[in-house]
Amino acid sequence: MAREHIRHWKVGDVEIARIVEVNDWEDDIAMLLPDGKPEYVQRFPWLVPQFATPAGKMLISFQCFALSSRDKRVMIDTCIGADRQREFPVFTNLQTTFLEDLAAAGFAPPTINTVMCTHLHFDHVGWNTRLVNGKWVPTFPQARYLFGRQEYDHWQRLRETGGYHNIDHLVDSIDPITSAGLADFIVTDHRITDEVWLEPTPGHTPGHVSVHIRSKGEEAVITGDMMHHPIQLAAPTIHGNFDMDKPLGAKTRLEFIKRYADRKVLIIGSHFCDPTSGWIVRDGDAWKLSLK
Ligand SMILES: [Zn+2]
Repeated sequence: MAREHIRHWKVGDVEIARIVEVNDWEDDIAMLLPDGKPEYVQRFPWLVPQFATPAGKMLISFQCFALSSRDKRVMIDTCIGADRQREFPVFTNLQTTFLEDLAAAGFAPPTINTVMCTHLHFDHVGWNTRLVNGKWVPTFPQARYLFGRQEYDHWQRLRETGGYHNIDHLVDSIDPITSAGLADFIVTDHRITDEVWLEPTPGHTPGHVSVHIRSKGEEAVITGDMMHHPIQLAAPTIHGNFDMDKPLGAKTRLEFIKRYADRKVLIIGSHFCDPTSGWIVRDGDAWKLSLK
């Protein structure tokens, strides 16, 4: 079903594949940007057709990445997962070919030895587990799962204080991993190999990280949810509805953009629709995503 959406990149010796679970979801920009209007999206014609419709609706995808570097075969996030009960129908009780797609992309599930979650939202941790005979079990029992210490502790506090509206995903996607003893708790600049390391990009969540890849002089960054849509390159400081700390999210986004603008660093957007990657270039007094 989603096999036609598999995409591959090579960054030096590092191979990256993308697996899509929900492709080209169309929604109002007001979901992401407060008071966002279709006319605002239409001010940026470079978004059409990949990232927005001519009518000014945003398009986003729900996807994750697998990469190989040295002896590590790493999941970067694990999407939404099957059989979930979630707030929105689009995420509920998904039945997809995710695991087959992963194998078709060259990353058969038993070959994965590391699972890294950029943060602990439901759409980044789902396939950590799967439902077998009514029980949630690790999808990658041979892997170490890397959870940010700060991020994990934050969600535990939210659970204890009732500070978040829905923590079902902790129960089905995180707890089974810690119970099985498969979790390692890491710092926000953790190095996975000499070619792949984490960059702290807080704001969306407190322990949020992006993933930096550098090999043989080539460079890329997988954003995570530091930004959700390329329109945020045009308006980095507009507060994002999904960010837990909105001013910090905006500050992190602006710093990130300034760090990578007009450089040969490929930006791979965790929610960017196909082609999902591009370069940050100047566009007037802001920036845009260049696909070439
Ligand atoms: Zn997300």
